Amino acid sequence: MKIYCVEDEEEIRNLIIYALTSVGYEVEGFSESAPFWDRIKDNQPDLILLDIMLPGEDGIAILKKLKASEKYENIPVIMSTAKGTEYDKVIGLDLGADDYLTKPFGMMEMISRIKAVLRRSHKTEKVQLKNGPIIMNLDRHQVEVNGEKIILTLKEFDLLKLFLNNIEIVFTRDQLLDQIWGMDYVGESRTVDVHVGTLRTKLGEIGSCIETLRGVGYRMVKIVEEENI
Ligand code: CA
Repeated sequence: MKIYCVEDEEEIRNLIIYALTSVGYEVEGFSESAPFWDRIKDNQPDLILLDIMLPGEDGIAILKKLKASEKYENIPVIMSTAKGTEYDKVIGLDLGADDYLTKPFGMMEMISRIKAVLRRSHKTEKVQLKNGPIIMNLDRHQVEVNGEKIILTLKEFDLLKLFLNNIEIVFTRDQLLDQIWGMDYVGESRTVDVHVGTLRTKLGEIGSCIETLRGVGYRMVKIVEEENI
């Protein structure tokens, strides 16, 4: 689990990094927004601890950008605010922060808040899988592409789920047979090709995100959408 901590006060930042590292989290600290944006571009954390009062771009502005971006909107954020700034707290929660800590806060309190937020976010993460315009709702067993519902067979659904859970990972036909049809299945790898084919067709234009690697197998590539940032 990786956590980014944006906090300009070095002493507090170091204390947070120390406390979180000691309980097993991977933590990176940032004193202002620029290096944070640089880093998050290619390396997304599981949670962000965000101080509101920062030099330059403040925590509220950072939060707004995160929540306006399809790429970052689902990363949980815990804001930290100085005592007596109720207004900031309310704004932060309104803008989609998951929780807040009032300074000065204890490290134990911080860790328990982080754990709680991570627990909650993982629940929602499991219900929905996504790649660009493809959204799979596991609760309702539904798939939408660009907001349009598509009807899949059970095997096509399982296949798509496997791909969505493993974007950019290559699967051989044998691996797909094992995972979707089970070890005992006495079919042949042609079965896989047929199902990948019908799945692609049903996904429409976007179906090409499931690539064939000649002589190897299949992989779903990440669909890059226009970014807000
Ligand atoms: Ca500060």
